[in-house]
Amino acid sequence: MNLENKGLRELFSLANQIGNKRYHKLTHQDFEKYREFDYWRYVNGDYECGTTQESRDWVTENSDSYCPICEQHYSVKGGKTIDHKLPRSQYPWLSMNFHNLWVICRDCNQEKSEMNWYEYEHYIFVNYHDWYPVVKAARPKLLLHSLKD
Ligand SMILES: [Zn+2]
Repeated sequence: MNLENKGLRELFSLANQIGNKRYHKLTHQDFEKYREFDYWRYVNGDYECGTTQESRDWVTENSDSYCPICEQHYSVKGGKTIDHKLPRSQYPWLSMNFHNLWVICRDCNQEKSEMNWYEYEHYIFVNYHDWYPVVKAARPKLLLHSLKD
């Protein structure tokens, strides 16, 4: 199946089907991953961009001074946050998969919220058309493919 050739609505519906199916198959190990992420990010507080040295280092290595989505300086957009491209609420087993993480500003993170990836692409396409190419380029293709197993 070639995901590139599918329309957004079709992809969104596909991802929903996959997500719902997987959700019933979550194991204890999946929830351990989920907790592992919380520890990695929140060990000493509630700052959204990592409080362990390792998570702070990861953020430094994987971001510059500007949010990749809105291209604003982080200082005027609530700071940096670690976002899960595929939301933890739907894909907890991907919590610690680094292909699923990216650094975006707090405002963009809050706006993205718990949207499914394709729902988010569609949202950006409709509401912030200029940002769409960047968001599309950030699509976690490998992870979305892995969901088809
Ligand atoms: Zn932003």
